[in-house]
Amino acid sequence: KNLDVDTLSEDECESILKVIQRDFDLRQQEQDRLHKIEEELNEEDVKATILAKKGSSFNENCCVRCFSRFFFIFNQKNECAACKLFVCKNCATYDKEKKAYTCKVCQKQTSLQQQSNQWFYQNVKQRFKRFGSAKVVRSLYKR
Ligand SMILES: [Zn+2]
Ligand SMILES: [Zn+2]
Repeated sequence: KNLDVDTLSEDECESILKVIQRDFDLRQQEQDRLHKIEEELNEEDVKATILAKKGSSFNENCCVRCFSRFFFIFNQKNECAACKLFVCKNCATYDKEKKAYTCKVCQKQTSLQQQSNQWFYQNVKQRFKRFGSAKVVRSLYKR
């Protein structure tokens, strides 16, 4: 059954707007959380770019994520398949299927991407379905 805005009473309108507002707040919180992770990752990205800049030997000798020094056996150097930087064993996980290492930052990036997609799906697509359509929401706010 579709919402018919014109036949709603003031009370009904108010309660719908309340639900929308609460919904909006929750979405905002989640968006803020994702945004924070994104900022962290951007910072990390800038840091890594500076450290691994061409001509610098830093990344040849040290992990670009935690700065620990590579040693032949004790702290092996692994190349992350995604960012192509050298990271230590602690900062990377090995994917047996892909036969490749991925550093923790690139993993975070992937999971953020998934969370953002999920967020979009849950909050934008489904909500509008629940309230009928964006048009209904818009006309409610106009009243
Ligand atoms: Zn490390
Ligand atoms: Zn990486």
